[in-house]
Amino acid sequence: MNNPNSNPNPKGHVIVLPYPAQGHINPLLQFSKLLVRKGLKVTFAATPYTINLIHEPTVSVEPISDGYDEGGFNHAPSVESYIESYRSVGSKTLSELIMKLRHSSCAVNCIVYDSMLTWALDVAKQFGIYGAVFLTNAASVCCIYWEMKLGNLVFPLEKLVFPISFPGLPTPLGVSDLPSFIARPDDHKGYLDAIMGIFHTLENNDWVFCNTFQELETQALDGKWPVIPVGPMVPSAYLHQPSSEDTAYGATLWNPTSSKSYMTWLGTKPPRSVVYVSFGSMATMTVKQAEEIATGLKASKKSFIWVVKESWEILPEGFISGLSDAGLVVTWCNQLEVLAHPAIGCFVTHCGWNSVLEALSIGVPMVAVAQWSDQPTNAILVEVVWGVGTRAQKDPDGVLSGKELEKCIREVMDGGKSEDLKRSASKWSESAARALSVGGTSDKDINEFVKILMSGKG
Ligand code: UDP
Repeated sequence: MNNPNSNPNPKGHVIVLPYPAQGHINPLLQFSKLLVRKGLKVTFAATPYTINLIHEPTVSVEPISDGYDEGGFNHAPSVESYIESYRSVGSKTLSELIMKLRHSSCAVNCIVYDSMLTWALDVAKQFGIYGAVFLTNAASVCCIYWEMKLGNLVFPLEKLVFPISFPGLPTPLGVSDLPSFIARPDDHKGYLDAIMGIFHTLENNDWVFCNTFQELETQALDGKWPVIPVGPMVPSAYLHQPSSEDTAYGATLWNPTSSKSYMTWLGTKPPRSVVYVSFGSMATMTVKQAEEIATGLKASKKSFIWVVKESWEILPEGFISGLSDAGLVVTWCNQLEVLAHPAIGCFVTHCGWNSVLEALSIGVPMVAVAQWSDQPTNAILVEVVWGVGTRAQKDPDGVLSGKELEKCIREVMDGGKSEDLKRSASKWSESAARALSVGGTSDKDINEFVKILMSGKG
C-alpha cells in the first residue's frame, strides 16, 4: 500500500509484526509511527482479518497470513493451534513479504516482532537481517518469566517457599499475584509456551524492547536481563503534548458506540466526577459479574461510562432504561479520549498493560480489578509500587461484589487516600512524558536503534 508521508529516501526498513489482538496492535503500531517520524521506512505486517481495521496513514501496511484469513484467532480451535498455524503459515508469508520488499526503494534490514511470535526471529536470521523482539508486558512481569527461564520457579508453585521476591515487586507475593499463565499453567498452556519461547531465545535478539520506561520500573530494568525500555507507547497528544497531531493509535478492532455522543455527555459533567469502567478487549463478563458491577456503580452515586462489549442482555433487566443521566453504557469507545477528559476521576480497569500505561500517562487513578494473564501482577504495581490506585478484592468465586466496587470507587474518588492517589498519578504522568520527550530515556534508546538501522547494516 502507498505511504504518502514516509521518508522519500529511507536508509533503514523495518517490518513490524504484531500479534493480532488490540492490546498488541496498539503498542506496536505506536512504535511504528515513532520509527517513521525518526526517518525509517516501516511496513506493518497485519493479518488479513485485521488489516482493514488499521487506519494509520504514516505506516505502510502489508498482509501476512496466520492461516485464519476469514475469522482470525476466534476461528481457531485452541490457542495452541492458532499459535502453531501462525508459526507455519506466517513464517512462509513473512519470508515472501521480505523478498517482495527487496525490490522496493529500500530493502528490509530488521524485523521487530511481537513477543508472542518467536518464529519471526528465525526468519530474520535466515535472511541475515536484524531481529528485535517487542515485549508488551511490564518489565517487572518479564522479570518473573526471566526467573522462570533461569529455572528459579519450579512447579507446582505451592511447593515453593514463599515469600519469593522479584525485582520491582513487593514481598511477599502469593501464587495468585503471579501472572495467571504461571499461577495456573494448565489453564493457559498455549500462552505460557509461547511466552517462554521468547524468554528462552531472548539473548539471540539484536534488541529486546519493552513497553515501559526507566523511571517507572528502575529495579526491573537493572541490567540482570537484556532489555531496552522504549515506552510508554501512548500517542504523544496524551503525553503532555496537547498540540501534537498524534491523537490515536490508528487501529480499532471494535466498532465504537456511534458518533462519540459519550464525549458530549462527558462535557456536561464536573471535573473528576465520572467513573470510567472497562475490562479491555479480551476479558469476558458473566451475568453475575455484570449484575454486581451495575449494583456497585449505582450505589456509588457517581456518574459513569461503562464499556460492555458483550451483548447487553447480560445487564440486569431495566438497567439501561433506568439510567437517566447518571450513566452511559457503550459497546466500545476511544479510551484515550475518555481517560483524558477532565470529567474522568477514576478508571475501573482490568489492568491490561496498555490500559495501565494509558492511565499512568494521562494521570488517572485506578480501581484495579485484575482478571487473568499479567493483570494480577500489574494490579500490585498500580496499588503498592506506584500508589496510583486501589485493588478490589474478589469473593472466593472470583466475583467482584457491588459492595466492594462501591467501596473502592469511594476510596479513589473521595476517601482520605484520594488526594495521594491523584498526586502520584500526576507525578507519573509527568515522568511518562519525560521518557519520550527529546533527550528522554526512551527517546535516546529509540534514536540509537534508528541510527544503526539508518547506517544500512543488517
Ligand atoms: N480500548 C479502547 N476502547 C475501549 C476499551 C479498550 O480503545 O473501549 C483500548 C485501550 O485503549 C487499550 C486496548 O484497547 O489500548 C486494550 O489493551 P489492554 O492491554 O489494556 O487490554 P487487553 O485488551 O489486551 O486485555
